[in-house]
Amino acid sequence: LSTIIEETKKCNISICDLRDATKDIQESDLFFYGCASPDLEEVLTLQKMLKQKYPKSKHIVGGAHATLFPQDFAHFDSVVINRGERAVVQLIDDVQAGSLKWNYNVPVDYRREYYPYPKRSFLSEDKIVTSLFKSEKIKSTTVLFSHGCPFDCGFCANYNRGAIARRSNQDISDEIDYLKSEYGIDGISLQDEICIPFKEQEAIDFLMMIKSKNILWRGQLRAGVKENLIALAKESGCVELSIGMESVVQKVIDIAHKNIKVSDVVKSLADCRKYGVFSRLYLLNGLPGEPKNVVELTKQFIEQNNPDVVLLSSLQPYPGSPIYNNPERYGITLMMEKFELNHLRNRFKTDSTLEETVPFEYSNPGPFGETLSRQEIYDNLLELQKFLRERHMVK
Ligand code: SF4
Repeated sequence: LSTIIEETKKCNISICDLRDATKDIQESDLFFYGCASPDLEEVLTLQKMLKQKYPKSKHIVGGAHATLFPQDFAHFDSVVINRGERAVVQLIDDVQAGSLKWNYNVPVDYRREYYPYPKRSFLSEDKIVTSLFKSEKIKSTTVLFSHGCPFDCGFCANYNRGAIARRSNQDISDEIDYLKSEYGIDGISLQDEICIPFKEQEAIDFLMMIKSKNILWRGQLRAGVKENLIALAKESGCVELSIGMESVVQKVIDIAHKNIKVSDVVKSLADCRKYGVFSRLYLLNGLPGEPKNVVELTKQFIEQNNPDVVLLSSLQPYPGSPIYNNPERYGITLMMEKFELNHLRNRFKTDSTLEETVPFEYSNPGPFGETLSRQEIYDNLLELQKFLRERHMVK
């Protein structure tokens, strides 16, 4: 958004990186905030503080939580619903004309509209160049080459649903050239929901382009990608692929609308091993429909298929996800008081409480048969985390 705003030449813009705790936030006519549900308290506190300090400033919020619950931002001057690429430009025009509106909802169609790739100069170099690969010597950064996800997983709060819109290979190539020449980047971590396009020719063209860039990369793979594409990914510089499986039990995958087959994951893990690509498997503990022996089945799957790393999260029904929106369909009662990033923390923490780990309860029996109690779901997480740690599979 900063790159888009800067290109309009209508105002000066800077990013305040709140990871720099010492940085004082300078006065500005407009403050923009991005807010996902786990950020809510922090954003509200920050806005209150800045409003007191700079009473003339205007405060605009966007992001997933603002889109779902605009009423939570009554003390802000304006709320951007959905994507902000077009809305911010309109909004700045309106501020300059003295006619700022309470909310903006301007749809963006990435398949028809072009937006520049993000300039990294808004942040200091040490925030851009990091080491995201196993070797610290690889200077790396994150990139996003596509928007959207066509799936509808029950636990997922990603509000960029819908057809995938990919940037052109030329544009991606230009961005990689920019990262290499400006920052000496030799590794990129793709943040795309699905890193290898579904259509085979599109995938081949993309991978051939990446190959020509002589750069290492990692990304998130949709299980079931053909073997020849995994082989080509490796040739193009891919060193690591992550696969979202969520459960080793097909019934649980189906209830969650994950739309993959266990056999596809088995094949993709085998292909990664065959071509020397490091594999990361994502699992989610506590999904609806888990059988009593889910831990045993999970251990068996891991031992038989041997992913390099397993990242086990705990189900946290965040706003925007189908489970949060329709809990009765899953026979679940939600008990979330605050939206914290516990699904991530629980991957690594060893002292999570039951309340943090399982902020919900299933009715028993539920719509999908017999269910697990909160205590059982909690114990399962601890047992599986221990199993993974003992095998050094957590990181
Ligand atoms: S979890 Fe499912 S819906 Fe969410 S981004 Fe991944 S594939 Fe798409």
